[in-house]
Amino acid sequence: MSEENTLISRWLQVYQQLAKATTTAGRDPASVKLLAVSKQHSAETIRALALAGQRDFGESYVQEAQRKQALLSDLPLCWHFIGQIQSNKTRAIAEHFDWVHTLDRHKHAERLNEQRPTHLPALQVCIQVMLAEESGKGGLWPEEVLALAQQIQQLPRLKLRGLMCIPPPLTDPNAQLAQFQRMQALLKQLNTHGLSLDTLSMGMSDDYVAAIAAGATIIRIGTAIFGQRNSQHEDQ
Ligand SMILES: *Cc1c(COP(=O)(O)O)cnc(C)c1O
Repeated sequence: MSEENTLISRWLQVYQQLAKATTTAGRDPASVKLLAVSKQHSAETIRALALAGQRDFGESYVQEAQRKQALLSDLPLCWHFIGQIQSNKTRAIAEHFDWVHTLDRHKHAERLNEQRPTHLPALQVCIQVMLAEESGKGGLWPEEVLALAQQIQQLPRLKLRGLMCIPPPLTDPNAQLAQFQRMQALLKQLNTHGLSLDTLSMGMSDDYVAAIAAGATIIRIGTAIFGQRNSQHEDQ
């Protein structure tokens, strides 16, 4: 098979697994959005997948994403920022993305709110939740989330949609499920405080089936679609 055929067939396989997992969970397959995580993959690769029908793409590095977005501006794509937010990149994020999954600080929320261009719709955001002590990944502890959520509600250029997590990698499906169910319970609990959150961004290549069983509405899939990434990226 050509590289492009391999790409498309892997992508279709993820969709089949998604359909199977939603059906098993008694959910509508259309209730889960597949976000193709294209960090460290080329604009040509993204274009091939976009032409096959993929619309949502996730990127972790702002400059890398901007380079590719410029090459793909003829396509109606939806861009999701899923990397760690740095204060000096909030303007570029506010101007070039439709979604941000990794909000964990009021200061960043305020900057994104101020910097979101008025000709664009509100920036769709999720709060990143930390489920276990792990260095360098960001996120708030579950008990800290409500306070930030209420602050974000006050910011008109941001639309708070829900929660996101990058849990520690576990291989046991029951352990994966237990982690994701904590997110599901947290979302439900926040909604009892007058929030109306509808999004759980959780599940990656190795645990998305468990995430779907626990109510994921966006799964973020890189390797299972694009194959392995090289460990280096080009941003500074
Ligand atoms: C890279 C990345 C993914 C995709 O991970 P895979 O294991 O390759 O599917 C998902 N979410 C975030 C936040 C990432 O940084």
